[in-house]
Amino acid sequence: MISSKSGVDAPTESKVLVIYTGGTIGMVPTPDGLKPKPGALVEYLRKQPMFHDEDYAKEHHLDDLKNTLVLPETKSKKRIIYTILEYDPLLDSSNMIPDNWVKMGKDIEDNYLDYDGFVILHGTDTMAYTSSALSFMCEHLGKPVILTGSQVPIYQLRNDGRENLLGALIISGEFVIPEVCLYFNNKLYRGNRVTKVDSESFDGFSSPNLDPLATAEAEIKINCDIIWKDPNPGKFQVSTKLNSDVGVLRLFPGITADSVEAFLKTMKGVVLETYGSGNAPNDQPKLLTALKNATDSGTIIINCTQCLRGTVSASYATGQDLMKAGVIPGGDMTPEASLTKLCYVLAKTEDSSERKKMMKDNLRGEITLLKRNELCLTNSHFIQIIGKSLSISCKEDLEAISNALTPPLACSAAKIGDIGALETLKDMGSNLCLGDYDGRTPLHVAACEGHLEVVQYLLSHGASVHAKDRYGDNPLSNAVRFRRKEVVKLLRKTGAHLSGDHHEEAGTELCSLAASGDLDGLEIWVLAGADPNTPGYDGRTAIQVVEAIGKTDMVKFLAQLMSKKSGTGE
Ligand code: ASP
Repeated sequence: MISSKSGVDAPTESKVLVIYTGGTIGMVPTPDGLKPKPGALVEYLRKQPMFHDEDYAKEHHLDDLKNTLVLPETKSKKRIIYTILEYDPLLDSSNMIPDNWVKMGKDIEDNYLDYDGFVILHGTDTMAYTSSALSFMCEHLGKPVILTGSQVPIYQLRNDGRENLLGALIISGEFVIPEVCLYFNNKLYRGNRVTKVDSESFDGFSSPNLDPLATAEAEIKINCDIIWKDPNPGKFQVSTKLNSDVGVLRLFPGITADSVEAFLKTMKGVVLETYGSGNAPNDQPKLLTALKNATDSGTIIINCTQCLRGTVSASYATGQDLMKAGVIPGGDMTPEASLTKLCYVLAKTEDSSERKKMMKDNLRGEITLLKRNELCLTNSHFIQIIGKSLSISCKEDLEAISNALTPPLACSAAKIGDIGALETLKDMGSNLCLGDYDGRTPLHVAACEGHLEVVQYLLSHGASVHAKDRYGDNPLSNAVRFRRKEVVKLLRKTGAHLSGDHHEEAGTELCSLAASGDLDGLEIWVLAGADPNTPGYDGRTAIQVVEAIGKTDMVKFLAQLMSKKSGTGE
């Protein structure tokens, strides 16, 4: 429950610091266009009864305090006393850089103990970047920080600045919402979920993947269920170190591998804006190689969709190939949140795996990690949570449960090609070589799926190439069935051979592949160790079958396969 600061025992006054950084809200026309006017806003507000109760201020000697005003009594009989800290220079937010975020963060930190809440008056153009950046910089925030501004200067007769400022002041003075928020057009949004969507409408912002935290209609309704709850509460502090070697790369049809490569070279962190649910062209090997080289050399690349709403998922091969190149799926994070999170995370740690982990983690409610209806064995997060909780509670009988559950979890991780989840299970003491109820090991599953890196990982962690499932299949026969050529080669190199039944069936299988002209099938069986000279069920070899049906090209192909095979010494 979000406590309102009002109530029988609650103090009747609350204090809000307004950090005025600039923006249209306080701009006046000049021959060069709209510009902020120093000193004008506080003087204007002082004269507006809806923003300043002169009698109350006199009676309570607030007049003596510089730039301090008091709102008329609120519905809950509260007085909100606010002090305006005006920046010099006042900025059009298009001129903001990360140093400006640092200054705001420091001012919040320096004044944290003296105020109940903070309002930041800011231009709308880059407000979503600032609200996202501050959300990460403010660690263990316990009080509201609300950014607002307007599309029309507050001095004009019809404007949105009045409502926006009043709403932000009332919410920050009356409610304990421990988040960096953005208030616009009667809605309070999580600061790292918003994006500017309209340069004219009073409804200029959208939070496409998260409902508003509050709506201000006849009553102010707080959506308590979604207010952020700090998972590791601690002492408030502002992290003022940011790394600005970051950039945004938006894909477009026809983008070249060379330009991608040149861009990536200059960056430590990149937001890759992809199509749809996180897709990029996968028919340009050079482009994927450029991405892979960058991630291999430590650049953190985060995949965000160009769509306003929705999430990056692994539904398409074009998206999965990005993951294989080491690009981190950014889920439903906005590009603004992703970019500022990179600035924060890159400055927080030098350790590459820690950086990647932080980028994937939900630090301040900026990403939706798991929806309830997505709880299933093939969800990486689910596997890791179960793995961890089993290890935490591991007493004698729980150990048996853990042993029973880890094989299917590991198989699920292998199925989705998730080395991170396998690593978690291994770190929790799980044996990655055990089979599930059908005797299928993670290596079987990875071989079926053709996840070469997972196969490699499992082999280097003791997985046996000879493990047989209840059907007598080993990982090699699985890879053959699903025609995973690279996996077959790797398994052969590490000592795998066709299991008994398959070995016996090889002659017949080769004959039938030869009869149907399936070159690919023949090649994969031969790669797996089948001998084209082995006779099938009727005593003929594959070569004799193709000779009989007069397929001369196939005779040549088989002869080549055989000479390759003898070249390998088999
Ligand atoms: N250019 C202005 C700014 O971002 C726009 C605004 O405030 O609405 O400062």
